[in-house]
Amino acid sequence: MRIHNETANIVTHLGAFGVFVYLLLSQLWPEAPWLYYTSVASLVVCMLNSVLYHTFMNMTAHYDTWLLLDVLGIFGCFFVCEVAIVWFGFACFPHLRSPSLLLYYPVAFFAIYKAGRAETMADRAKYMSVLGLTRGAILLLRMYLAAGTPFALRTYVAMDVVGLLGAVLNVSKVPERWYPGVFDYACNSHMLMHLCAFAALACCYIAMTDDYSSTYLGALAGTACVHVRG
Ligand SMILES: [Zn+2]
Repeated sequence: MRIHNETANIVTHLGAFGVFVYLLLSQLWPEAPWLYYTSVASLVVCMLNSVLYHTFMNMTAHYDTWLLLDVLGIFGCFFVCEVAIVWFGFACFPHLRSPSLLLYYPVAFFAIYKAGRAETMADRAKYMSVLGLTRGAILLLRMYLAAGTPFALRTYVAMDVVGLLGAVLNVSKVPERWYPGVFDYACNSHMLMHLCAFAALACCYIAMTDDYSSTYLGALAGTACVHVRG
């Protein structure tokens, strides 16, 4: 056992994996248990797949399989969590739930299929952007209708900004391209991207939980939809 240039990548997402497993076992949305388990499980699987990829990428002949697992873990979060995002966020506009999901899922299937077959990081990023734009369109509709709390909307925006920052760092290879050899073991672009990925998924969890406790429970109680536009 020794420290190597994948150790920091494994440790960062192993810690995040532990946090999301703890949350999964805590079950904090009692009125929507299936949405809780599926959404938080997707965060757990994303972190687990990343740990497996960075642990085994150099130890077996199946590098592409581990990479595919890592990529599918990231897309899996977007794929699964959107159900809770739409279901809770449009609790005061229930007629918009099905059209939003019908818009999102064909694009999601297409993006995941194409990303799974992509040969380069740039291609995978392109299909992730397609999915991100579709999610962004639904978020803009929520903003226009003032659906959900301002806190949840701000946190979803923060999630996308932090996620994008991580992607830009990863592609640009900053800071190691400025100081070759200094960041071989820690604080290189990929490790910083890992921290951004954890922060983005944490924002997603926090925003979904706010959507659940403020908007969804409020709609069930008849207190959240009094002054809605639409
Ligand atoms: Zn990674």
